[in-house]
Amino acid sequence: KGHVRFEGVRFGYDPGREILKGLDLDVPAGSTLAVVGPSGAGKSTLARLMYRFYDVAEGRITIDGQDIRDVQQASLRAAIGIVPQDTVLFNDTIGYNIAYGREGAGRAEVEAAAAGAAIAGFIERQPEGYDARVGERGLKLSGGEKQRVAIARTLLKNPPILILDEATSALDSRTEAEILDTLEAIERGRTTIVIAHRLSTVIHADQIVVLDGGHVAERGTHAELLRLG
Ligand code: ADP
Ligand code: ADP
Repeated sequence: KGHVRFEGVRFGYDPGREILKGLDLDVPAGSTLAVVGPSGAGKSTLARLMYRFYDVAEGRITIDGQDIRDVQQASLRAAIGIVPQDTVLFNDTIGYNIAYGREGAGRAEVEAAAAGAAIAGFIERQPEGYDARVGERGLKLSGGEKQRVAIARTLLKNPPILILDEATSALDSRTEAEILDTLEAIERGRTTIVIAHRLSTVIHADQIVVLDGGHVAERGTHAELLRLG
């Protein structure tokens, strides 16, 4: 479950300025698609369309053959988890930030999600230990820790479809590498769309599309795209 398709998708925010000009994508259930391309190419727009912050002007987006316009809002949001580039946290505990809006999540589930996102890895290095840091306020966290909170939040929802919208782009390369490892583990078994800056962060993707000028400029595996130069 979680086969995502874009079929001839056209979209623009403003009349006369089309951002996506007939986009076709096919992401088999459980596979990873990476989307790269210059700033302004429409990569984040594609994520917003999947979540239905906006609707396509023409064409359609389907999940397992069903047009997402025919899916209830709540089901669509349950099916898709997004980890954005800049996670804005509440000035409340890490636990609260992970569980916010996730009705029914108990302490054990929140801690399991935190462990899955390897927040514990940071916490172990802290003299105050795990409990103190799960109770620590979100605003005190580093950029990498904030992204791990966002990942834990997504893990708690356990969505079949995962969208990583430049989830590690703002981090230093060492933190980025650590978080990419975590993400690779949680991508397993899920349909994943990774929006990325650099080709080097999406080596493991089953397919990569380069978006440019509203079209797919190149399409292939990492090795194939390197050969194209
Ligand atoms: P990318 O993620 O590839 O950098 P975006 O999808 O964020 O690109 O944006 C694609 C284009 O749409 C850009 O030219 C951007 O300025 C424009 N754009 C993004 N959001 C809006 C908006 N809410 N209203 C109008 N134009 C927008
Ligand atoms: P929810 O909060 O609906 O349970 P998520 O944990 O997947 O589901 O959180 C997604 C939230 O993050 C949305 O409410 C949205 O406001 C925000 N968000 C994530 N990615 C983006 C994006 N690319 N553009 C705009 N907002 C985003």
